[in-house]
Amino acid sequence: MLELDSKAIFQLDSMLSVASSIAVLTHTSPDGDAIGSTVAVASFLEELYPSCEISLIYDTLVPETLSFLLQEVSQDDDLSARNRLKIAVALSEPLRARALLDSADLVFCTDISGLSRCGSLCDAASSCKAPRVLVDHHLNPCAEEFSLMFSRTDISSSCELLYWILKAMPGVGGDVQRIPSVARRALMTGMTTDTNNFANSVFPSTLTMASELIASGVDRDDILCHMLQSYRENRVRAFAHLLGERMVVRSEGYAYIIMNYAEWKNFGLRDGELEGLVNVPLSIREVRLSLFLREDEPPAEGGQTGGKFRVSIRSKRGVSANRLAGSFFHGGGHEQASGGKLFYPGDIAGPTDAALYVDESVRKFLLSGTENAKDDELK
Ligand code: 5GP
Ligand code: MN
Repeated sequence: MLELDSKAIFQLDSMLSVASSIAVLTHTSPDGDAIGSTVAVASFLEELYPSCEISLIYDTLVPETLSFLLQEVSQDDDLSARNRLKIAVALSEPLRARALLDSADLVFCTDISGLSRCGSLCDAASSCKAPRVLVDHHLNPCAEEFSLMFSRTDISSSCELLYWILKAMPGVGGDVQRIPSVARRALMTGMTTDTNNFANSVFPSTLTMASELIASGVDRDDILCHMLQSYRENRVRAFAHLLGERMVVRSEGYAYIIMNYAEWKNFGLRDGELEGLVNVPLSIREVRLSLFLREDEPPAEGGQTGGKFRVSIRSKRGVSANRLAGSFFHGGGHEQASGGKLFYPGDIAGPTDAALYVDESVRKFLLSGTENAKDDELK
């Protein structure tokens, strides 16, 4: 059981009760925690707040291994009959996504520390007049962007925090069975993703949540089959190539993998298919810090905008991935799992300089102390 502020729960219930159109948002390139939490919100609203319309709006596509959650929420008989749920992806339908967001009178955000994490939806989400609610577990949330914020870092995932919130809501009254089954399954999925299947960020409350959900009938084995055993072959081939040919291990105790856009294309990969790769080098005893950089599609010849790498960082206890991401990669996240970006031109002149940048910045970071150094000492 997680202690929550009962006034905030009351306020959330009041806000949901008067809203007629609720947009549900999360971060770009959504992972299991992002999809699980947004699907759970949609399913919960559908069942417990029957007079509101719901829009689930994603910036980019949902990975194939997690699309079962979207299918389950959109196949709910009640929902489709009353046409109360709409799902939009801004990447493929920018105007529709924008219109749905603009027409919302409440915006419900999950798994983001701030609106800047919403990719192309950031501007529309910032400028819309509707009040915004946040449920999140990242460090340093942008409190000023939200009218009501549930933010905890002593928890496994946004899905876990949402579980405790939903359980405390007046319509549920502590009875897990009153949380819709689609929502329960989605919450279990997101928590399982963010704990890396119970390998990290597991708190006593996390195990209580898992136990209660399994007791309520959630089929964890089926979820694991979707999440971990339904990938395409090219994911495994790409892992073999990147670990075999691209992994650099340094004697200072860090490792990195850099993947350029041509490799990404050649393996025919899609968003989310390399989930988990960055964790693998941490299985080496001496490696305390692991980085994975993947180049996004570079600009067309002569383009003015430059390009970027997406950066994933994981660390062992005592090494702050969050500080490294904040100091050198325009990002953040959690102490042991963070992300960010590396821009060219800007941070580096061009993509071939990425390895040098990683070596220089990680060495500076490690030399200055891994946990407690102040940002200005690093630069
Ligand atoms: P991943 O490496 O799985 O993409 O992200 C790891 C963690 O860092 C997640 O909690 C994610 O939300 C966060 N994260 C990823 N990219 C960024 C970023 O560009 N900025 C910030 N602030 N957080 C990020
Ligand atoms: Mn999360």
